[in-house]
Amino acid sequence: MNPDHKIPFGDLSRQLGTIREEINEAVSSTLESGWFVLGKAGEKFESEFAGYVGTRYGVGVGSGTEALHLALVAVGVRPGDEVITVANTCVPTVSAISFAGATPALVDCDPVSYNLDPDKLEATITKKTRAIMPVHLYGQAADIDPIISIARKHDIPVVEDCAQAHGTEYKGKKAGTYGDVAAFSFYPSKNLGAYGDGGAVLTNDSSLAERLRMLRNYGQEKRYYHSIKGFNSRLDEIQAAILSVKLKHLDSWNARRREIASIYGSLIGNPVIRLPREMPYGKHIYHLYPIRTQHRDELQSFLSSNGIQTVIHYPIPIHLQKSYSDLGKSKGSFPQAEAHGNEELSLPMFPELADEEVKFISETLNRFTPSGRTAS
Ligand SMILES: *Cc1c(COP(=O)(O)O)cnc(C)c1O
Repeated sequence: MNPDHKIPFGDLSRQLGTIREEINEAVSSTLESGWFVLGKAGEKFESEFAGYVGTRYGVGVGSGTEALHLALVAVGVRPGDEVITVANTCVPTVSAISFAGATPALVDCDPVSYNLDPDKLEATITKKTRAIMPVHLYGQAADIDPIISIARKHDIPVVEDCAQAHGTEYKGKKAGTYGDVAAFSFYPSKNLGAYGDGGAVLTNDSSLAERLRMLRNYGQEKRYYHSIKGFNSRLDEIQAAILSVKLKHLDSWNARRREIASIYGSLIGNPVIRLPREMPYGKHIYHLYPIRTQHRDELQSFLSSNGIQTVIHYPIPIHLQKSYSDLGKSKGSFPQAEAHGNEELSLPMFPELADEEVKFISETLNRFTPSGRTAS
């Protein structure tokens, strides 16, 4: 991180400034309770968050990666199975598949929404496919209806990766209500973030919820009676109490993100820069604001030299990562995901960004011309 950046990519201390008293109160009352794992604060948050998204059950776990992993195990993924997901996701999506003992089977993304292309899904299904895991990337829903209908046709469970989609909507319902199970992350910088790691799995299926509760707690049905092989992955009471406070602000924070996106959209006009498109089927909550340009690296240095910090999400698609070279997919296998990785750049996007900052970023982008020179 360059300390000279006048405008940081993210700044959680600004947010803390707006909620400090509520947070201090939540943390100190949890400390006073003397109970730190699997207690009242966790249960309260689980039911509040499931209620917010619109599912019957919520199970708090240790992280988003573990939420995905436990969800896969709960729907029956076993070693040797295949799990389908998209090539341009965050690596933890596929880490969860690997840790369930399964092999990721990748699908290219749609060039406009940057989400899993449903037209390319069915060709990837084999006899070994045991789950389909669409990702709602950047805060915008994947086109979930055709994904679900293909999955139903082949009787394959759907696990939604909602780690970037707290409040995202698709055809009037929230992301996380469409699949058999949904996994959320509360990593600090997500739209709903803890002050540490955390995650949750949501479902409408009571037996899946029951299995998830056992899986996160050593496979226990009741204390010291282990009916299945399980893990330790629990959302702790302090994080749960913090998340209950922050959940009350989520809708207004998401609304502010949408407002910032609309300012960017109205002010940025540069023929070499492509802005993100909102798909007609849903509500984008702008976890990130991904622009694209063929001059990405040059633009990133230009912004940095103007005091603006940006991040690339993500420079290398899954199949070209060293850790996934065993998939045997060479360059050219997923052309849309590869082009996206070469061109994507995320602008600062967090609710506490000031209008003046958004304006400055937009004007700086408008001054950019490739090859280093700027139109002054
Ligand atoms: C953040 C993220 C995860 C992982 O969540 P953690 O809480 O960091 O384990 C998984 N998938 C996507 C798409 C993410 O953005």
